[in-house]
Amino acid sequence: MLRKTSSRPFHYPGPTSALRCGKVSLERLAREHGTPLYVYSADQIAERFALFESALAGREHLICYAVKANSALAILKLLASLGAGFDIVSGGELERVLKAAPEAAGRVVFSGVGKTAAEIDAALRANVLVFNVESEAELALLAGRARKIGKRARFSLRMNPDVFADTHPYISTGMREHKFGIDIRRAPEIYKRAAKNRWLEAHGASVHIGSQIRSSEPFGAAIERVSKLVSRLKREGIALKAIDAGGGLGIDYYDQAFDAAAKVNEYAQALEAALGDFDGQLLIEPGRFLVAQAGALVTRVLYVKKNGKKTFVVTDAAMNDLIRPALYQAHHEIVPVRSRSGKPRTVDVVGPVCETGDFFARDRKLRPLEAGDLLALLDAGAYGMAQSSNYNSRPRAAEVLVEGAKARLIRRRETTADQLAAELY
Ligand SMILES: *Cc1c(COP(=O)(O)O)cnc(C)c1O
Repeated sequence: MLRKTSSRPFHYPGPTSALRCGKVSLERLAREHGTPLYVYSADQIAERFALFESALAGREHLICYAVKANSALAILKLLASLGAGFDIVSGGELERVLKAAPEAAGRVVFSGVGKTAAEIDAALRANVLVFNVESEAELALLAGRARKIGKRARFSLRMNPDVFADTHPYISTGMREHKFGIDIRRAPEIYKRAAKNRWLEAHGASVHIGSQIRSSEPFGAAIERVSKLVSRLKREGIALKAIDAGGGLGIDYYDQAFDAAAKVNEYAQALEAALGDFDGQLLIEPGRFLVAQAGALVTRVLYVKKNGKKTFVVTDAAMNDLIRPALYQAHHEIVPVRSRSGKPRTVDVVGPVCETGDFFARDRKLRPLEAGDLLALLDAGAYGMAQSSNYNSRPRAAEVLVEGAKARLIRRRETTADQLAAELY
């Protein structure tokens, strides 16, 4: 049974009550807004943000929320109001930040391996804090655009520190064979060459070694390599103002009693130890850790069917709403919104999309379910809605943000008319 803990906003207030997000019943939200429905706890996001703030209090820092984890305007606005900066990876994400929180433009770091000239121009005009540059070719393009627009560009080289992070191979990024970053051994020469270009200003050095990394050790190892390089550059006359440790701190998708505060402290200590005597600003880019556990995907059971020995629970949410299980074999806890009794049975929980990969759980033990029951897929606040699609021409889910006792629709359910609007025939 889920109890209310500081790291879990979704809980049953009593044995016969419906699952709540904070003080708000998910049954009520499903009735008012329909399903599938993403529900997020603003309080939980704020609490997670505060954990990073207090763990890093001893050092000049900026927490740049990785917009790609969940780019809802209301969530960006909430985080900006808490003082967050943003890590963006596209012109679209820049527009989102400028719309939700124009005052935060100067707290934006622009990452990504394939920035276009148009995206670079937009970010220069918006006066973002820094470009995390991923190749020499990109640095040359950045210098050219800066000259054209007449604004110096602050940049950090995103280094590939060649450290191994134990995570899913699709979300590991910090080794030489990955497409990300610049070989750290080549960095000094690139900084030196850039120092001769008046349109470029070397601002910092950055890394991002991957996502859903549970141990603090690889973060420490990566930052140790970066801070060594930064000290060396300083001795050679290039003083950088910032070290960006990237994002990637993982959560526990299985453990209901996961201690988020302990995790953040351990992470901050690993960074601190690795920074040595660096006295500039530390940037971090957490995405998942801030929003994953704040969100659940609420879905209704459409059918329970048997094929031979297997029982399938067919829900009205599908892989187009939450692709993580199909894409990374990711685990999400699934709980009934109203507790069920009866002996747990082994079932597959699947969506209606015409793909065998359209599942949320395989061989999962759940108490008996019936058509019409509501289920909550937990820890769906990151890379859930953000990776949703219209596959099978399914409209995207609605989203609700819960703050204290109040719930507010932050994105209405998409209609088929919305989907057809961009098409010509
Ligand atoms: C994806 C990404 C992040 C955020 O990763 P999380 O695992 O969600 O914390 C941060 N920085 C960069 C450059 C990224 O690509």
